[in-house]
Amino acid sequence: MSLRKIGFGILGLLGIFLLYTVFITERGIHPIPPKAGEIPNIDYGTLSEQAAKDLQSYIRIATVRGREKEGALFLKSILDKRGISSRVIEFPGKPDRASLVAEIKGKDRTKGGLILTSHIDVVEADPKEWTEPPFAGVRKGERIYGRGAVDVKGLGIMQLYAFFLVHEKKIPLTNNLMFLALADEESRSLHGARFLIQKHRELFNGYEYVLNEGGTGTRDIAIKGSKIFNIQHAEKGAVWLDLKTKADPGHGSTPPLKYAAKSMVDFLEEVQKLGDKTTIGEETAAFFFSLGDLSSFPNSFVLKRSRNPVLFLILKGVIQSNRHLRAMTRNTVSITGIDSHQAGINVITSETTGSVDMRILPGQDEKKIFQEVKTLGEKYDVEVSARHLEPGTISPMDSPLFRILAGVAMSVEPGSVAVPFLSPGTTDSSYMRAIGLKCYGLIPALLTSEEIDGIHGKNESMTVTQLKMGIEILFKTVIEYNQVEKEKH
Ligand SMILES: [Zn+2]
Repeated sequence: MSLRKIGFGILGLLGIFLLYTVFITERGIHPIPPKAGEIPNIDYGTLSEQAAKDLQSYIRIATVRGREKEGALFLKSILDKRGISSRVIEFPGKPDRASLVAEIKGKDRTKGGLILTSHIDVVEADPKEWTEPPFAGVRKGERIYGRGAVDVKGLGIMQLYAFFLVHEKKIPLTNNLMFLALADEESRSLHGARFLIQKHRELFNGYEYVLNEGGTGTRDIAIKGSKIFNIQHAEKGAVWLDLKTKADPGHGSTPPLKYAAKSMVDFLEEVQKLGDKTTIGEETAAFFFSLGDLSSFPNSFVLKRSRNPVLFLILKGVIQSNRHLRAMTRNTVSITGIDSHQAGINVITSETTGSVDMRILPGQDEKKIFQEVKTLGEKYDVEVSARHLEPGTISPMDSPLFRILAGVAMSVEPGSVAVPFLSPGTTDSSYMRAIGLKCYGLIPALLTSEEIDGIHGKNESMTVTQLKMGIEILFKTVIEYNQVEKEKH
């Protein structure tokens, strides 16, 4: 074969490849737009002013990892006033840790039900760091300040008002609708979601879908001027490991080749390499695709083809430089403790302990990864034990509820997009997915990065406008979902 022929051959291959990159894009999501005309006219403005007052009162009950019963009774009193029955379920032996359930029954009670859920508890808040006292429910202008305003009493109030509307407007439901406010989410749910799933499993009979926290709408984050509803449909799993290594002690002036602290450092260097691989699955590709819709050329071109082998190399650079994108696309490794039990500065100590927090992508085997790290530890004489192993969880992004929620959110806020979101942290949805429920997480309002920083941070706040958008999106989602279900029958 002549050089000339080889040259043409290579050019030909390059041409085919370029055609491939031009024509083959990833798939985005498929929102179902709401069917206009079937939704009653609601004065969301007046309604959100009432909701704001209830949010202020709810914040004033300082449910810091406890006292959820008072929060549950507060919600119950509002439901009572509207003539909706509900019940408070206490954790046996700890009546203070309570959850609340209310239901509106649909025509078909056996399947397809939808749960609106949130948690009553909040995390701590240090008043010294805040401009407003965190448990006073202060309102300034249209902004309500307080611990839980965003995470997640604000969402609870949005859900409550959507639930009222279904009741008051006598919306005919095809399937059951539940309002569920849970205890103990912030401390791993022993007295809340996990308790109800284990001891009151019957509550969930006939239910198929859950709308919960886990994602938010964002304004001006990621791309300037963007309005994005990040609908959480998957959560990463956790591999929490304790580490220990022992060797002979010695003098700092004459170090042996191997000693405890050095073995630990060498081992940790190796473990970190386990988090080096970037993986873009189908959902993450759809996430980047939707961001492509908001971007201009050439970014849009790259984002819509995130798994193209050449363009991936460009995107990889962007992913590497952003810790949120990194967390969405790989198993992460965080070194969360190293202790050499230090004595004097010239003493080599005999024991070093440590801990590692790994977060793994859904679909990966937590036991296998633990085993892999354990085997690596043997090489460095580091003993590895598992404190907690949990797989990631995932719900489909082509289910009717996901598509309806996306379509409704985009119609309520023109110019916005909805994207599937894989969250690095976990919520109660991980327990609910484990019993077969399809769970999606969204605070359906547009938050700025400052407002998102208020979550577990300082000056947490939500505006009346955000409450209004949330109530409208949730109410319309319930209506549209039941409409789609009705057409199936
Ligand atoms: Zn939360």
